[in-house]
Amino acid sequence: MSHWQQLQADRALFEQTLHAFLPARIFDAHVHLYRHAHYGPAGPPPLFAATPSEVDWDRFIRDVAWLHGPKRTVGALCFGLTFNGERAANDAFVAAETGAARAQGFAALPQLIVGPGDDPDMVREQVRRAGYVGLKPYHTLAQTPYPTWHAPLAAYFPEPLAQVAHDEGLTVTLHLVRARALADPANQATLRRYAERYPNMRLILAHAGRGFNPWHTIEGVAALANLANLWFDTSAVTEAGGFEAIIDTFGHTRLLYGSDFPISQLRGRCVAVGDSFHWLYAEGATLGENHGDVYPALVGLESLRALRLACRRLRLSDTQIEDLFYGNAAQLFALST
Ligand SMILES: [Zn+2]
Repeated sequence: MSHWQQLQADRALFEQTLHAFLPARIFDAHVHLYRHAHYGPAGPPPLFAATPSEVDWDRFIRDVAWLHGPKRTVGALCFGLTFNGERAANDAFVAAETGAARAQGFAALPQLIVGPGDDPDMVREQVRRAGYVGLKPYHTLAQTPYPTWHAPLAAYFPEPLAQVAHDEGLTVTLHLVRARALADPANQATLRRYAERYPNMRLILAHAGRGFNPWHTIEGVAALANLANLWFDTSAVTEAGGFEAIIDTFGHTRLLYGSDFPISQLRGRCVAVGDSFHWLYAEGATLGENHGDVYPALVGLESLRALRLACRRLRLSDTQIEDLFYGNAAQLFALST
C-alpha cells in the first residue's frame, strides 16, 4: 500500500468524521515545501522517495484537500525540509513559493532554516531581505558526538539566534528532542530561560511539544504554564492526550493547527509505546489482524481525528474550534481577518 495517494477509505473517513468538524477557513501552521533536488546528490530518504519530486505551493493546496476538502486552506507557515541537504536553495524556494502564493491572495509566510553555526548577523540580514517571519532550527544540524535526537535545545538553537528572533519579532518553530521532550527537565529549563529572556520571540513547539507519546506533554506542559510567548502546533500528532493537556493548561488560544504536509500524506500513525513512541507506516508493513481487515489512513487524517476527539472531550465551542484552525494564527501573525 503506497504513500501519496488518496484511497476510498480516506475519502470515507473524511466524510464520516471530519467534513462537518472542520471550519470553513484554515491557516496551516506547519508546512514543508521543497524539491527532491534540495536533498543534494544523496536524494531523498527512503520515506520520501514516493513523494512528488517538487512539493510547491500549488501541489500543497491541491493535495492537502485530501485532508480538508477543497478551498478551506487560506494560508500557511512554510519552511524547507532538506535540513542537511542544500538548505539555502530550499530556503530560497520557500521564499519564492510563498511570495507567489501571497500574490494570489494566500496568507503564505516563510520561515528560514537555521543551524547552530550560522552567523546571527547574516541570519538577521537574510530575514530582513527576504521577509522571513520566523526561524526553523532542527536537531539534525546540531554538532554532537552522540545521535542528535539526544541533543539539548541550545545545541541546535543557540542563544544568539534567540536574540535575533527577539530583536526581529520572529516566530521559531521548534521540534524538541531528547527522549521525553517536554517532560525533560533540561528542555523545560532552556525553554523557560529563552522565553523569559527574549519576550519578543514567539516560540511554537511543533508536534504538540513533540508529544508523539502524549504522556510527555501531559507531564511536562505545566512546567511552562505561565509563559506568554509560547504556542504549540498539532502537526502529525495522532493521539488526543497532548492536545487536551495544552488546551487545559494554556487555554485553546495557544494551539495552532498544522498538517506537517507532506508527512500528512504518508499512510500510518504514531503510537505511544511504553515511555517512547513508534511511527507505524503502512508501506512495507505486514498488517494482519485476527478480527478483521486493517485500513491504515493518511497521517493527516489521523491527526485531525485526534484533534477532533480533544475538542469534543473538552467541549470546545464552534468559535473556539475556528480559533484553533485560523483565529489563533491570525492573531499571532497579525493577519487581516
Ligand atoms: Zn514537520
